[in-house]
Amino acid sequence: MELFEKSAYELSQMMKKKEVSSVELTKSVFERIRAVEPKIDAYVTLNEENALKAAEEVDVKRAEGEELSELAGIPIGIKDNISTKGLKTTCSSKMLENYVPPFNATVMNRVYENGMVVTGKLNMDEFAMGSSTENSYFKPTRNPHDADRIPGGSSGGSAAAVAACEAIVSLGSDTGGSIRQPASYCGVVGLKPTYGAVSRYGLVAFASSLDQIGPLGRTVRDVAMLQSVINGHDRMDATSAYRNYADLSAGLKSGVDGLKIGLPKEYFGKGIDDEVKSGVLNAVKALEAQGAVVKEISLPSADYALSSYYIISSAEASSNLARFDGVRYGFRAEEYDGLTDMYEKTRSEGFGDEVKRRIMLGTFVLSSGFYDAYYKKAKLLQRRISEEFSQAFSDVDIIATPTVPTTAFRIGENTDDPLKMYATDICTVTVNIAGLPAISVPCGKDSRKLPIGLQLIGGKFTEQRLLNTAYTYEQLVGGFSMPEL
Ligand code: GLN
Repeated sequence: MELFEKSAYELSQMMKKKEVSSVELTKSVFERIRAVEPKIDAYVTLNEENALKAAEEVDVKRAEGEELSELAGIPIGIKDNISTKGLKTTCSSKMLENYVPPFNATVMNRVYENGMVVTGKLNMDEFAMGSSTENSYFKPTRNPHDADRIPGGSSGGSAAAVAACEAIVSLGSDTGGSIRQPASYCGVVGLKPTYGAVSRYGLVAFASSLDQIGPLGRTVRDVAMLQSVINGHDRMDATSAYRNYADLSAGLKSGVDGLKIGLPKEYFGKGIDDEVKSGVLNAVKALEAQGAVVKEISLPSADYALSSYYIISSAEASSNLARFDGVRYGFRAEEYDGLTDMYEKTRSEGFGDEVKRRIMLGTFVLSSGFYDAYYKKAKLLQRRISEEFSQAFSDVDIIATPTVPTTAFRIGENTDDPLKMYATDICTVTVNIAGLPAISVPCGKDSRKLPIGLQLIGGKFTEQRLLNTAYTYEQLVGGFSMPEL
């Protein structure tokens, strides 16, 4: 087995025992990138020189006997909407094509403090709006399991890079499913943490009340390790939760005896592909055989989830993206006649179609004539959806659903039909609306050999339980399977 194929946990053990150095590992990952990147296109920017320097520093510290973090020396890829000081952060938009942040996001400070090695910045849908990474201004990313198919989105680069072993782990962001959905399509593990568990400081805002940064990896343990590095209170983010954050990888244990799992009937009905459904139900059966107690539950407002998600997220996006006006940062149109014309031309030329669609939709639902009819109703539904989850969690410990209704679709298949594209988020958006944590873990493949994802949803701050359940399943069945590249 090559170094780039191993898990962060294995590599960390090997580095501790001095069987391998971080420089050797980092070189192995960059060799892999050179070999498969022309086929996958997961990266927008590579950071090889700095990565090797960082790896060398870790190796020196280790040689000097310094106590290091578990993830010291591990190569990590970063979604391109997370601010990295001195390293371009484009959000895969023409608007920020040449933007170099003067500061680090809080998660980046944590990544660096833990001695992790940043391989580069990963492709995404422009400003995290999309479900396939086809909305990137630069290029689409391809699914490592079938290069004619999308890797999911918006964190498509983050999932594809990990699946293709172009990074050991990665960071993504999830506003309506953007970590879990690509993790499912690419056959890797992705965790969307509880809202407030990970600082959003330095994450380029899409919908601030829903956005959350989270980890992707090939194993549940790797995801637990990375989540333990990035979570925690941050005074730079007013929505960051002040509490004790346990070490999730130290607490990881197998076993689901007595765990009550709820299957919401609304998530297994119309529109869910048969093979996906049976993949997920088989996974639940495997947990049942280990002592979990499974029962059917109902989350009746699921039908309204997509409309309320697209109203709330677009409303917030229209306000958040007002800052890209050609004055403060990023792109400015070359020719214009006065200030208003400069704004208009800059925004018309700098944003792609999907971003413009969201800004228009968001501005519309917030306008005085329509606010009550749309935005206010969506916020009411948000409360109802949250209440339904709270009620469900008084009865069960965990809710299991498919992560996505189907496996990965073909590049170009949904690009002309935004509503079809939005429909892929049907199983993931309620989690963000209610601020809950959820994990996607690979649970087998369909007849075309495309990965299926099991989504486990928990009450607020039950990440440990979610990880333990996913870990139990992974031990039973084996999660990640290597794509042929
Ligand atoms: N696909 C959803 C959207 O386009 C989710 C995006 C996300 O989670 N960033 O809004």
